[in-house]
Amino acid sequence: MNTIKVGNKVLIIGSGLGGLSTALRLTTHGYEVEIIEKYHQAGGRLNQLKKDGFIFDIGPSFFSMSYEFTELFDYCKIKNPLHMNELNPIYSVYFSGKKEPYQIHKELHKLAQEFAAIEPDFEAKAKRYLEKAGSIFHDTENVIIKRNYDNLLQYAMALMTVPLKHGPMLFRSMWTELERNFDSEDVKVIFSLVAFFLGSTPFDTPAVYSLLNYTELKHDGYWNIQGGMYKIVEEIQKLLIERGVKFHFNTEITQIEQKAGKISAFIDASGKKWSADIFVCNSDAAAFRGKVLGRKAFSEEKLAKKHWTLAPFTIYLGVKGKIKDLHHHNYFLGSNFKQYADNIFKLSVNPEKPYYYVNASSKSNPDCAPEGCENLFILCPVPDRRFKKEWDDREQLADTILKDMSERIGFDLIENRISQTIYAPDDWESMFNLYQGSGLGLAHGLDQVAALRPKNKDEEFDNLYYVGASTIPGTGLPIVVIGSKLVTERILKDNE
Ligand SMILES: Cc1cc2nc3c(=O)[nH]c(=O)nc-3n(C[C@H](O)[C@H](O)[C@H](O)COP(=O)(O)OP(=O)(O)OC[C@H]3O[C@@H](n4cnc5c(N)ncnc54)[C@H](O)[C@@H]3O)c2cc1C
Repeated sequence: MNTIKVGNKVLIIGSGLGGLSTALRLTTHGYEVEIIEKYHQAGGRLNQLKKDGFIFDIGPSFFSMSYEFTELFDYCKIKNPLHMNELNPIYSVYFSGKKEPYQIHKELHKLAQEFAAIEPDFEAKAKRYLEKAGSIFHDTENVIIKRNYDNLLQYAMALMTVPLKHGPMLFRSMWTELERNFDSEDVKVIFSLVAFFLGSTPFDTPAVYSLLNYTELKHDGYWNIQGGMYKIVEEIQKLLIERGVKFHFNTEITQIEQKAGKISAFIDASGKKWSADIFVCNSDAAAFRGKVLGRKAFSEEKLAKKHWTLAPFTIYLGVKGKIKDLHHHNYFLGSNFKQYADNIFKLSVNPEKPYYYVNASSKSNPDCAPEGCENLFILCPVPDRRFKKEWDDREQLADTILKDMSERIGFDLIENRISQTIYAPDDWESMFNLYQGSGLGLAHGLDQVAALRPKNKDEEFDNLYYVGASTIPGTGLPIVVIGSKLVTERILKDNE
């Protein structure tokens, strides 16, 4: 590591993965870094809950593009301290009314056996579909996604380098593309689940995003971390402390102090001033500009008109007994996919037949639960608080989900429940300042990506930068890590 440079003090607001990985890169370049965090511990959405002898990862449970973590540690000249495990089968999918789940294997010949009864010739069809999706991924990864933009012209020029053959995929929906390739409704539904991560439905997500099917099934697959996802935070925090980085928890930035086109200090809720030479904001890049900087372009009215990803409704459940046949990663889906997708973003009441994801991490990390018990993380995507403000009925929705799941797995979760914590969208909003509780931040429609996403350098203050889910390149763990590289490049360019 280089020695600390005088006059290069950086204050990072937020200790999410974006803030932590930026801190790691900047200390590698000799910057002195201090981190201010609203929550009581580091990690942001990548956080941990310990209760009643159970340990839960509260948000992310797997990730794609594992090589971005390798790149981060290589960049910082550190041996990767994370033990990454590839998932295979990557997940199980339960459809209501069908007893057996589909196992989603990474090997297409095995997946073809799963779908043998419903999709003849699956392997050849999937190869064709994924080949096209793969060429979109490789034709855009470096030229569109992994780069900074100074203006729209640069973006237009970058788009012109993408082969014209991908053009039609901008104008047709992901669902239409799936219909052109597959016949089975179940196969189309399974392949289209990735659209929800982007903040949309497969019916209005452009087909270019089929590249996500390529990343999960063909390219690098899905990974998790031995010992739990929170190890990512613990390991990076440990390295930062060794490098002299100071953390201040339970401290929320609410105001600014400015001088001659620069931020001179951020001010916390108690009135304390935090000064530095350079500031990096890891709080939501759109909401922070509106709420703390008072920017008109991000006023409440303008924020409300943007497209946001769904909010999480999460249950952390400790149960007595071992649940046979349940795998580590599971999706529980209904039989009314189109209707569900059409309504889910705007519902003002709890869904009657919720779709949800279940992670049983004690299946591969026995230390997460007391002996003979299981810890379950249940995530049900729901509308953000623009559509359903109050969540006093959280217990009812939790019970609806637990009853449904109990019937489908043949294990009474309510009877055997020994620990339960629920985070509804209002909790997510107040814990991490997530806009209206939106779980993944700004959506990734074509109007909110690349140069059209809130920039990672402030429009007015010369020494203020952004990193995280709602700036470039976007949301998801590896993407936020890429974002930390992009913002570091900007800071180095402006200050070296
Ligand atoms: C339930 C859930 C499940 C998910 N699952 C996955 C998954 O499986 N795989 C995946 O890749 N991604 C997943 N994601 C997305 C992933 O968690 C995010 O994209 C990523 O963690 C975002 O990191 P970030 O750096 O943008 O910031 P955050 O995690 O949002 O961190 C920002 C930090 O800033 C702090 N902060 C905000 N405002 C202030 C302020 N004014 N003053 C001080 N501190 C402030 C917050 O408290 C927070 O700690 C999931 C998200 C959720 C919510």
